[in-house]
Amino acid sequence: LTESASPLTTSETRLLDHIAGSTDALVALLQELIRFRTPNPPGGNEAQAQEFMAATLADLGMTVDIFDALPGRPNVVGRLEGRGGGRSILFNGHIDVAELQAPDAWSHDPFAGVRRGSRIYGLGASDMKSALTGAIVAIRSLRECGYELAGDVLYESVIGEEAGEPGTRACVERGVRADFAIVGESSKSDDVFVTGVGVFNFSVTLSDALSHHLIQRNELLLQNTEFEGHNCIQKMAEVIIPALLSLEQAWLETKTHPLLPRGYAMLNIFEIEGGGNTFILPRECKLHATAVYLPNDSAELVRGEINEIINAASERDEWLKDHPPVISWQPERHNIQFLPIDTSRTDVGARLLAQCLGQVRRRPVTLAGRAAIMDGGWLEAAGIPTVVFGPGDRRVIHRPDEYVEISDVVTFAQTLALFIARWSGG
Ligand SMILES: [Zn+2]
Repeated sequence: LTESASPLTTSETRLLDHIAGSTDALVALLQELIRFRTPNPPGGNEAQAQEFMAATLADLGMTVDIFDALPGRPNVVGRLEGRGGGRSILFNGHIDVAELQAPDAWSHDPFAGVRRGSRIYGLGASDMKSALTGAIVAIRSLRECGYELAGDVLYESVIGEEAGEPGTRACVERGVRADFAIVGESSKSDDVFVTGVGVFNFSVTLSDALSHHLIQRNELLLQNTEFEGHNCIQKMAEVIIPALLSLEQAWLETKTHPLLPRGYAMLNIFEIEGGGNTFILPRECKLHATAVYLPNDSAELVRGEINEIINAASERDEWLKDHPPVISWQPERHNIQFLPIDTSRTDVGARLLAQCLGQVRRRPVTLAGRAAIMDGGWLEAAGIPTVVFGPGDRRVIHRPDEYVEISDVVTFAQTLALFIARWSGG
């Protein structure tokens, strides 16, 4: 599905030129945002940056709602009211950045926003303070070029994305809605993505009410069927983990999506706890895992499959049959959930955005899929057609010397401004 470019109007050309001419201001704003230290984890450090965002959005003429998504951790939602009768657009971006890992491996101060040649370096340069910046420049340029919009323009600066915390979800629960949403996660300002994968965590616990001494392990060796105990770590390794891995292997064949490469339905076991006493056969073992599911699947169905395979494996095991595993879908720790995005490639907003990008890039743009994990699913679940489009490169995020190409941020701002003008305009 390719969008062909139609010519830009004179005022649209002026708008794009105006943004290209605002590059210094764009760079300065991006550097200022990078200097707010908002790594997450640990999180809880967003308040100052969010006050700055609130003030910046107010300067754009927006009505600003600032409210705690979590205690002391504010979200900021700006609304630029249109004169009525037009379509509304929501930009969503997260103010938190990835955890600072290996600070010594950085060639530049990760919080300085150093400019070198065509790039800005810093934690969050790509993911995604550049998108936050570009969206502000886009909206400001529309005003400066005299655009009067019919539809509302909404801007969300949310907390908590990097740790699966309820920033965007809190906006949805507060009732923020629009006719179309753009989540500014990195696509190099090169692609418009209409998919995202779903994610949830769960835990599986094996336990035995009774204690059995180390020396009784010989009962296991001799396969004494009268013996009531077992080693819970061993059962996890021999029965539960193989069952989960076989399910994941089956998904490789059965779970596909037309826009995604194979193999994105996954199960990752990321933590094991239990045991610890030399003289006791481990009485408890808990496994923590992440399930990644495709946008055309549902968390409920996937949970059903996991439940079924664990129960079936346990039924076949002499000891587990009498000591059934407990599966928790809301684990006490690591309780994370992301919803998938599966916006249609015929969606009118997605197609218009691809067309705008094509005109700015001067080449055809195809709506594509990507197995990204992000906040946009909450918006789509609230009935808002949602796509992913933003500056920055996925390959450089969450690692030392993260950077963004300044030209990508300019392209993003130009495309977004052109889109808003056409979507929410006259
Ligand atoms: Zn991000």
